[in-house]
Amino acid sequence: MNILVTGALGYIGSNTTIKLIESGYKLYLLDNLHNSSIDTLNKIEKITKKKQTFIEADIRDHNEINNILKKYKIETIFHFAGLKSVKESENSPEKYFEVNFEGSKNLIDGLNLQKIKKKIFIFSSSACVYGNPKKLPYKEDHPLSPENAYGKTKLKVELYLKQTSLSNTNWQAIALRYFNPIGAHSSGFLGDNPLNDTPENLMPYISRVALGKLTHLEIFGSDYDTNDGTPVRDYIHIEDLAEGHLAAFNFLKNKKNDVYEEINLGKGKGYSVLELVETFQKINKINIPYEFSKRRLGDISKYYADVEKSKNLLGWKTKKTLEEMCKSSWEFEKKLKENE
Ligand code: NAD
Ligand code: UDP
Repeated sequence: MNILVTGALGYIGSNTTIKLIESGYKLYLLDNLHNSSIDTLNKIEKITKKKQTFIEADIRDHNEINNILKKYKIETIFHFAGLKSVKESENSPEKYFEVNFEGSKNLIDGLNLQKIKKKIFIFSSSACVYGNPKKLPYKEDHPLSPENAYGKTKLKVELYLKQTSLSNTNWQAIALRYFNPIGAHSSGFLGDNPLNDTPENLMPYISRVALGKLTHLEIFGSDYDTNDGTPVRDYIHIEDLAEGHLAAFNFLKNKKNDVYEEINLGKGKGYSVLELVETFQKINKINIPYEFSKRRLGDISKYYADVEKSKNLLGWKTKKTLEEMCKSSWEFEKKLKENE
């Protein structure tokens, strides 16, 4: 089976790539290195002890994508490539539309043209397609109303994938709606390492405060309607998330009929920002100075996943604890520092 992994050198792509290689699959890894480094390819090869085929390409390049799909006779695509900053998406919605929507459309249309018996597409969607919760936990049939340009691109891809897969034959597709992935691979080599100096997401920010690269964490808001006033999210260990992809792939491979599904990948449990910070401090025995500041625009007070569908359909659920997430994030950050 010829499998293409886009965004393979990114945080989630690289961790899933490891699991796929360890399960015996031969992969074609694609990335344009916009938010990753070629060094990650070396790490993947070191961990798996297997040489990989890497293709440096941009998913926006319609002709090149078609050529790649044809040349390697691609039958399955794990599609991680994309831009993920909510803030940047609000400032540059066109760029987000081009990369996240047009780029995904190139891959979906390209796969549709392949003359093969079974087309498998696994898409990295996000919990932010739901928008303001009408009811928690978010079930997959919760109304979809993303609050920002990033979320709108994810929803647009889901709808395009659904339409394409349902109006053509031999399609099996899943949109996986991720909650908040944190943590790192057990080797300590593959984690969330945003290329910008001031990370936007909570865990990489905490890790850099722990290292002393940033002086303190700003906690955006202490007056939310939650137990301790700070927002609640469903944090999921990156290795659990990566295994969720394998479970989705196995589910599709075993199906004879055409399929389109949207499935949450989360732990099904919410933790507040303060709970995460306190767990990080306790398990790693390190102080994280923090200050409260005003709410971040567009942040939702509280959300977490309904995990029944992933359990029933994929036979998958998370195994790792918040402590393990915090511990592995810190191990990864220390390793990065050692190798600087
Ligand atoms: P990441 O930035 O670490 O990885 C994305 C990879 O895609 C990077 O290696 C980047 O270089 C590559 N890329 C970007 N634009 C590209 C292009 N035009 N052509 C080819 N490659 C390109 O991000 P991640 O955290 O690994 O996220 C992977 C996917 O999951 C993204 O689609 C993201 O939107 C989605 N997602 C992430 C989160 C999260 O919290 N990390 C949550 C929900 C959904
Ligand atoms: N957050 C924070 N300080 C930071 C970064 C994030 O207080 O420097 C909070 C943010 O308000 C949200 C939670 O941490 O409630 C998770 O934010 P993140 O950006 O990691 O993910 P999101 O849930 O927005 O996708």
